[in-house]
Amino acid sequence: MINLLETMTAMDHERVCFHQDAESGLKAIIAVHSTRLGNALGGTRRWHYATEHDGLVDVLRLSQGMSYKSACAGLPMGGAKSVVLLPEPNWAATETEACAMGRFIHSLNGAYIGAEDVGTSIQYVDWMAQETPHVKGGEAICNGGDPSPWTAKGTFNGMKACLAYAGRGEGFGGLRVAIQGMGHVGMVLAQLLHEAGAELIVADINDASVQEAVRRFGATPCCTDDILRAECDVLAPCALGAVLGPAEIDALQTDIVCGAANNILVDPDRDAATLAAQGVVYGPDFVVNAGGVIHLSGIYLGFSESSLLERNDAIEGTTARILNDAAGGSTYESAVALAKSRIAAGDPLQESCHAG
Ligand code: NAD
Repeated sequence: MINLLETMTAMDHERVCFHQDAESGLKAIIAVHSTRLGNALGGTRRWHYATEHDGLVDVLRLSQGMSYKSACAGLPMGGAKSVVLLPEPNWAATETEACAMGRFIHSLNGAYIGAEDVGTSIQYVDWMAQETPHVKGGEAICNGGDPSPWTAKGTFNGMKACLAYAGRGEGFGGLRVAIQGMGHVGMVLAQLLHEAGAELIVADINDASVQEAVRRFGATPCCTDDILRAECDVLAPCALGAVLGPAEIDALQTDIVCGAANNILVDPDRDAATLAAQGVVYGPDFVVNAGGVIHLSGIYLGFSESSLLERNDAIEGTTARILNDAAGGSTYESAVALAKSRIAAGDPLQESCHAG
């Protein structure tokens, strides 16, 4: 087991809370990484971890990532995440469990705002919302709905910045974009790219989704083993995390990687530097996939519809700035530096020259 307080100190976490509820069997952890910029919104992930330690490590890493994502998006929001530790894979979600999770979230008095993530649904969010106003992304009890279309739009905006940085202008006409994962985000991203004139190469373990993209967008199907080495102008990983390590980077046949999946790189410190050294422009995942958190946070903060759109469009400028700041080096490093400087300044629109 890790030394928790030492790890929290090293990773700058404010608070980590554990909870078990005998009636529902809920076992959950909420990690609040930072509230320096504001209350912290982050999804509730339901997952069967091999060990409790794995669940703890995941929630610590994910919550830190949320702080960086919100800060880069210029939101007055901190970073947090929660995990529900399932006794078995695919353990069915129940209203009783979700309500217990809602009460756990409520005990943090709004410092943490829950939302949908892997293993939870709009229904689960609405169940949690029966017990607390501090959740977003439901449709019946709380509002916000599915943020995926907003995430797709933000990723599209990030891609435009990558293309411009790579000297290809901003248009997608005639460009080939390969998408791994035609799920909630991937399918909408495919639609946006198709409407903008891109040719699509798509892969998914679910053949029905691939066939839908073939039918709707004239996409070329690709087998899941080959999508990461497809010859293309932009590769957009929109399925799982940790898909690009040294071997996959070596086999890339693209010079732009920009996708919505969280934690695309196996080891971001190492792999972002390798991508840069190989001349591949990498739009950092937590910068380009911030559309969903901007949408739900914006609703929480009471932003107008037009402000939400402007903030999503601003992902293009933020990505461009981060690519320029990196000056040919690791774009992951330059994105983390921007986030840390805003957190250190205590203001999402200011930067501190003393960020650690
Ligand atoms: P999703 O579950 O709807 O879609 C994921 C898709 O990937 C599914 O269709 C699945 O079949 C496919 N897939 C799984 N393994 C695959 C493989 N090996 N090869 C090809 N396809 C595979 O999830 P989503 O909501 O679309 O999210 C996609 C990614 O974006 C995730 O990494 C998620 O964490 C990240 N993300 C999503 C949001 C959001 O608003 N939904 C926001 C930020 C980040």
